[in-house]
Amino acid sequence: MRAAIFTGTPELSVEDVTAIEPGPSDVVVRIGASGVCHSDVSASNGTLPIPAPCILGHEGAGIVEWAGSEVTRVKVGDQVIASFVPACGNCFYCLHGQSNLCTMGGEVMFTPRATRGDGSTPAGFTGLGTFADQMTCNQASLVKIETDLPDAQLALIGCGVTTGVGAALNTAKIVPGSTVAVIGCGGVGQAVIQGARIAGASRIFAIDPVELKRKTAEVFGATDLIDPGAGDATAQLMELTGGIGADYAFEVIGLPETIAQAYAMARRGGTAVVVGMPKWDSQVTLPGFQLFYDEKKLLGCVYGSAQVRSDFQRFVDLVETGRLDLGSMVSAEIGLDDVNDAFRAMQSGEVIRSVITHV
Ligand SMILES: [Zn+2]
Ligand SMILES: [Zn+2]
Repeated sequence: MRAAIFTGTPELSVEDVTAIEPGPSDVVVRIGASGVCHSDVSASNGTLPIPAPCILGHEGAGIVEWAGSEVTRVKVGDQVIASFVPACGNCFYCLHGQSNLCTMGGEVMFTPRATRGDGSTPAGFTGLGTFADQMTCNQASLVKIETDLPDAQLALIGCGVTTGVGAALNTAKIVPGSTVAVIGCGGVGQAVIQGARIAGASRIFAIDPVELKRKTAEVFGATDLIDPGAGDATAQLMELTGGIGADYAFEVIGLPETIAQAYAMARRGGTAVVVGMPKWDSQVTLPGFQLFYDEKKLLGCVYGSAQVRSDFQRFVDLVETGRLDLGSMVSAEIGLDDVNDAFRAMQSGEVIRSVITHV
């Protein structure tokens, strides 16, 4: 098999490796498409510390090629979307309707899945490793779906779309007629905007310094575009909302400053949601008196609070009925060898989502 591997430096190594024989609960998936997500970049540059070597990619869709003797959830030939947090179905969180917090993640993360030429044995990022033509993972990391949609769109449901749409619909539970601010309009931010539109928000403020992202946000449902480069973004939002602020403010970058900004943008009694992944050791400073007096809610959000075994098909259905536009989120279909260029394009804000569709 071919795979793009993190070897300890930001430049991934695309190479031939040998798959390790799968176990009885494992499944082998022929990858049809894999989205290039910012978390892959974070893993490659140390923002998210992971052991090397590791097959990156955690946003993928494909077809089941082989299933172990104890596998019950999928069978050969099934169409699946990979879930970067497994949903084991048995842990405390899965049993309490919070499979996005499933404890099995720590276990699958370190299972070796391939052997390299130098004898080292990389695991798959988050138990997946979709930057490859083939992936071996635990059955808990897969969700069977039924659809005719192309893999390039389905892959996005594995991370960015579910995180963003889920943040709007599941975490925040946006009420129709609400005002919504979204700080950071990359792939996940655009999905938050779409989720807010689906939820019936009356006004959606898209906040991003990159013009392409603001323009794209308009396509997905943003009603007001705010350029932080043209003056303080919070002040601009306050002016647009008559000094009130937004009912919901989403931070989709993962920086302490913009998390504090989202908190400031939420109105009194409103809700700020942290969707972006901050550096693992970062700290956020918030105004103490306002925490009490303004009665705002501050919500963390992992994987859009999604219950993947029902939400993946739910989001597929929203795409099929034209409510959710994933086609416009795919900026470019690329080959596995282009993955390092895709990292650079993402970091310079040139694309919403690059999707690897050929290896
Ligand atoms: Zn991701
Ligand atoms: Zn679980």
